[in-house]
Amino acid sequence: MEFDIPFNKPYLAGPEMDYMQQAVESLKLSGNGTFTQKCQGFFRTHYGFGKCLLTTSCTDALEMAALLLNLGPEDEVILPSFTFVSTANAFVLRGARLRFADSLPDNPNISPASIEALIGPKTKAIVVVHYAGMACPMNEILTLGKAHGIPVIEDAAQAIDNVYVDQNGSRFLGGLGVLSAFSFHETKNIISGEGGMLAINEPSYEDRAEILWEKGTNRSAFFRGEVDKYGWVDLGSSFLPSELTAAFLYGQLEHLKHIQDHRLKLWQLYHEALAPLEQAGYLKRMQVPEYSGNNAHMYYVLCRSAKERTELAAFLKSKRILAVTHYLSLHASPFFSPKHDGRELPESDRYTQTLLRLPLYMALKEEEVLKVCAQMDAFFKA
Ligand SMILES: *Cc1c(COP(=O)(O)O)cnc(C)c1O
Repeated sequence: MEFDIPFNKPYLAGPEMDYMQQAVESLKLSGNGTFTQKCQGFFRTHYGFGKCLLTTSCTDALEMAALLLNLGPEDEVILPSFTFVSTANAFVLRGARLRFADSLPDNPNISPASIEALIGPKTKAIVVVHYAGMACPMNEILTLGKAHGIPVIEDAAQAIDNVYVDQNGSRFLGGLGVLSAFSFHETKNIISGEGGMLAINEPSYEDRAEILWEKGTNRSAFFRGEVDKYGWVDLGSSFLPSELTAAFLYGQLEHLKHIQDHRLKLWQLYHEALAPLEQAGYLKRMQVPEYSGNNAHMYYVLCRSAKERTELAAFLKSKRILAVTHYLSLHASPFFSPKHDGRELPESDRYTQTLLRLPLYMALKEEEVLKVCAQMDAFFKA
């Protein structure tokens, strides 16, 4: 079905084709060339992250994180149930045991109280997901991690260019955990088709990260002249993207500010236009926690029931507008539910049943945002 207002449209900032042509003409097509270095440098200088390594996806970056932590079958990882499968798969692939935590009452991010209840002697990592790009309550979570000697990993797939704010000022998301994973999938704010990055904020992981990234070899050290031959020194895989992907990504990064400003304008328009429906009690709008900035990754509303959400989505579809649902709580998934310990995760289930994402992309016009809101109004007032 063709939609007048689809859910997403990838945005081309302008220089992507030119940079890809430059990469082709330089005949340096494999990974870790000039454009890869430029992208990695961008994240270090703009956000103050530690070592940054581009990957072929956020999924890959999360798998690298699980490898770096040396997780095995005796180890437990605490993560939210309300997340994308890749957050979980990365650790399942290492044989680790997942302990799913519940979401907060105010937003789908992981609840520190729920984390605390799951910490035990086998806990080897706490993974947080900044859902909709909104910061998790990081001070509480980092304090828990520190008190128990457990590393905190950020799935920052949706969180580019956003900050955590407290009395000490603001800090960029992705720079708070020991490791953090970003996504440049075409549904994110900054894209390269498929793409991702691992930020390594704890220096002791740096050297090994580079080795895992280069298929388990010390090839990068060899090219820097630090060793006189290179060979197989550790586990690894092919995590690095080609220069074509990095060239495309760099073209987007150069336009980051324009992209963020425009997305934020559309986000605010939704937020204002939907206020009357919230005041009338028909739905709840997403909220920006007081400790978070807003990177306008997503706009969502919470419906009063699963049934009403289904009806609203169907109504919008009949008006050729695509609004989508996600995620399905992972503790209740076909793959995981037989392994789940039976704990109820009511908040995660509530978001699974009632959250509806609205179209938000660069080419979306202001009058189209208002049209989506007007149709929602028509649905509730009918
Ligand atoms: C998009 C997303 C991922 C996966 O990113 P890929 O780059 O497609 O692998 C992982 N976690 C979250 C929270 C995401 O939104």
